[in-house]
Amino acid sequence: MEPSLALGILRQLRGGPLREVIPSTLGEPLLWEGLDALADAVAAAGLLLNVTTNGTWPGRGARAWGERLAPVAADLKISWNGATAATAAAIMDGLDLAAAIDGVREVAAARDAAAARTGRRCRLSFQVTAQEGNVAELAAIVRLARDLGIDRVKVNQLQVQVPALAPRALGASADGIRRWNGAVAAMRAASAGGRGEAGAVALQGDVLLPERPGERLAAGPCPFVGREGWILAGGAFAPCPHPAAWSGELGDFGDASRTPLRELWEGPALRRLAEGYPDHPVCRACPFRRPGGA
Ligand code: SF4
Repeated sequence: MEPSLALGILRQLRGGPLREVIPSTLGEPLLWEGLDALADAVAAAGLLLNVTTNGTWPGRGARAWGERLAPVAADLKISWNGATAATAAAIMDGLDLAAAIDGVREVAAARDAAAARTGRRCRLSFQVTAQEGNVAELAAIVRLARDLGIDRVKVNQLQVQVPALAPRALGASADGIRRWNGAVAAMRAASAGGRGEAGAVALQGDVLLPERPGERLAAGPCPFVGREGWILAGGAFAPCPHPAAWSGELGDFGDASRTPLRELWEGPALRRLAEGYPDHPVCRACPFRRPGGA
């Protein structure tokens, strides 16, 4: 995205209900040329960033990124997929686990320093994609997170977007489900102290799956429509991060590079979806309506 587009939209929304800005969930936001300017604009507007990174801290290194982001971020999520070097490298293509751990220590120290200075603490999270390759290490990931001062471990199920991913998804077989459900109990024990208690790491997505493959958890409300607005790189507005929304299957919601975002936000297309999404076939099957995409 052109940084000027993001900054222009932010200017339009100043003084309104906007609270957080999420720079990119596709690609690595720390490589985006506009991130510094966006962070400055977000801070000047009294808003907060919500950043997900792959944890390689490109360019300036972990400490400097922590110092840059912790004072202006509500949540800093680090993708994390193994507790052993082999698993981490296999799932995140050559990742150096020891270097990644050192990076987290640096960022956590920067977070603590910023919290002591400002009185507001940026939450540090691990974002984990549960799958065949790491289900045996999920509890160890939680223990590692706790030891590194991570506040929350958010676990999502691998989504089968292409057939080649199907063998890696845990929900596809009774055996995978059994191992996931065992991992849930182990993660809860590893989080030590339980949800929200001091010294404990909070878990999210740690839900038991129905034992029969194909049986799904009941769908809850959509966490996005009417709450978040998504601007794609060229300016198209989408109601949520579902790939079907980005390819137009939920409708045409306009373009924020041509129309003020408030108009799109209050427009008929979004209103129709907000009222009718439970009956839309894409929304009926949507993993975002189930904990961890389960
Ligand atoms: S696909 Fe539908 S239910 Fe899923 S996140 Fe988008 S709007 Fe919500």
